Amino acid sequence: EVKQELTWSAEQLGNMEPGIIISRFGQHADVESADGEVLRCNIRRTAGSLITGDIVAWRRAPETEQGLQGVIEAVEDRRSVLTRPDIYDGIKPVAANIDQIFVVTSPLPAFSAQILDRYIVACEDIAITPVIVLNKTDLIAPEGAATDYINERLQLYQDIGYQVARVSATEEAGLDQLTALMANNTSIFVGQSGVGKSSLVNAILPDADIVTGDVSSNSGLGQHTTTVARLHRLPNNAALIDSPGIREFGLWHIEAERVTWGFREFRPYIGLCKFRDCSHRNDPGCALQEAVEQGKLDRERLQNYHRIIDSLEKA
Ligand code: GDP
Ligand code: ZN
Repeated sequence: EVKQELTWSAEQLGNMEPGIIISRFGQHADVESADGEVLRCNIRRTAGSLITGDIVAWRRAPETEQGLQGVIEAVEDRRSVLTRPDIYDGIKPVAANIDQIFVVTSPLPAFSAQILDRYIVACEDIAITPVIVLNKTDLIAPEGAATDYINERLQLYQDIGYQVARVSATEEAGLDQLTALMANNTSIFVGQSGVGKSSLVNAILPDADIVTGDVSSNSGLGQHTTTVARLHRLPNNAALIDSPGIREFGLWHIEAERVTWGFREFRPYIGLCKFRDCSHRNDPGCALQEAVEQGKLDRERLQNYHRIIDSLEKA
């Protein structure tokens, strides 16, 4: 189903139909029609550079020898776009019209609030809602310092306003809650290598046949990064766009001011510091530091903010 309201009028569409790009292969793409049929189409040059998730206007055409069944004529404005750096193209769009980003974490590799905060900032920067997933709950000890830390952190994110899902891909636990959160939206899964993204995608899309790996063998940049992004359908009008490249989404192009904005609960304090160029470290009259001292803001979140700023300055 095309979720977005179309800007095309019936006259403009004429004998064309609206559809969604499921996958793009050079000058061809698989398009899903309004009634769920998938057709391989040629892309008219004037349709521009299409990516998975794009909403397009296409028309049926007599089937060609290559098995092409239609022509894509035009693309709708994107309500969101996910990009990644590319050695040839600079910035390369990889998926369009995503509504939610599921940031997957785990107890092993160890739960890192710092990495999680980087993902959250990246999501906030492109105005896509992050949802926090704790996978591998089967590996969490009933009690202990590590368990307390994870619980305390997840509670904090909930208090800030993020949704949190606790799941186990291997035990198939919590998957109903996870898929309920995906209803009526287009989502992607991101997160550190080894947290179980591929396992989760496999668990919720049993037919998708996604490659999973071990924490050790999967640590570098994945060797499958060239695989094209694909839109998968789930019950409850949910869609999942996935590819190894998409799972590598992260914080690679962001300006310092956007980082402050990316910490959602900091927003009410922006502009309240004594100095306009406050670094929110030891500056006198810093509203953020003050809020931390008063227990209104979390100290570790402010530390992670500084770590992100420091890493940007080094880059
Ligand atoms: P990805 O790099 O994030 O895609 O992670 P993978 O899906 O490849 O999983 C990495 C490793 O964690 C694999 O050995 C999986 O079998 C394992 N794994 C994934 N999910 C779970 C889980 O819920 N519980 C446990 N115990 N192991 C899991
Ligand atoms: Zn300040």
